[in-house]
Amino acid sequence: MKDTAKHQGLRNQLVKTLQLKGITDKAVLEAIRKIPRHLFFVNSSFDDYAYQDIAFQIAAGQTISQPYTVAFQSELLQVKKDHKVLEIGTGSGYQTAILYTLGAKVYSVERQNELFKTTSVLLPKLGIRPKHLSYGDGYKGLPLHAPFDSIIVTAGAPFVPKPLMAQLKIGGRLVIPLGEDVQIMTLLIRKNETQFEKHEFGEFRFVPLLEDRN
Ligand code: SAH
Repeated sequence: MKDTAKHQGLRNQLVKTLQLKGITDKAVLEAIRKIPRHLFFVNSSFDDYAYQDIAFQIAAGQTISQPYTVAFQSELLQVKKDHKVLEIGTGSGYQTAILYTLGAKVYSVERQNELFKTTSVLLPKLGIRPKHLSYGDGYKGLPLHAPFDSIIVTAGAPFVPKPLMAQLKIGGRLVIPLGEDVQIMTLLIRKNETQFEKHEFGEFRFVPLLEDRN
């Protein structure tokens, strides 16, 4: 688990790439500059890919989102210090690490037990301390810990799960990629008990948000 000057140099390059692609939020860019993304790859022989702006298949079914996508979603969330943020799809934990670095109290749910276990061990080793990691079905959110200042879904959802809308504070932001093959990045801002304002931000590609097995 080594972070070197070479890795730091590659991260600085990655930050420049993200800026060229339109990411402007300083805190988000600093978080990307800080987090050693290569350490979220299970196999160190893929180190060289870690700072390219691509998504990556890491181990059995495990994916780490493209840095641009992580930055874009993080920017839309507008995380403030001590915000309670719910993440659906912990995966590699990279997005979790970015949210933590932005000052959020992160609650994250992962549906694959293997990933949940691996990431639960990895994050503390890297000094990343989410408030709560859980193994479960993200469609249900985390009712016991609700409400949240913002919610981020990091898998492609066929629709907006109702429980997630219910678990968002008034004024809160829900960022969710919506669609089957291709997803439209969607931001819902909760206006009051019943109304949400919807904004759409172009196409992205995610692994699917899987329905509960039961
Ligand atoms: N946030 C991750 C992205 C992981 S890819 C990162 O930064 O790398 C999406 C993740 O969502 C996968 O790990 C997948 O197992 C998980 N997932 C899929 N369906 C889910 C569900 N219903 N509930 C919770 N997690 C789910």
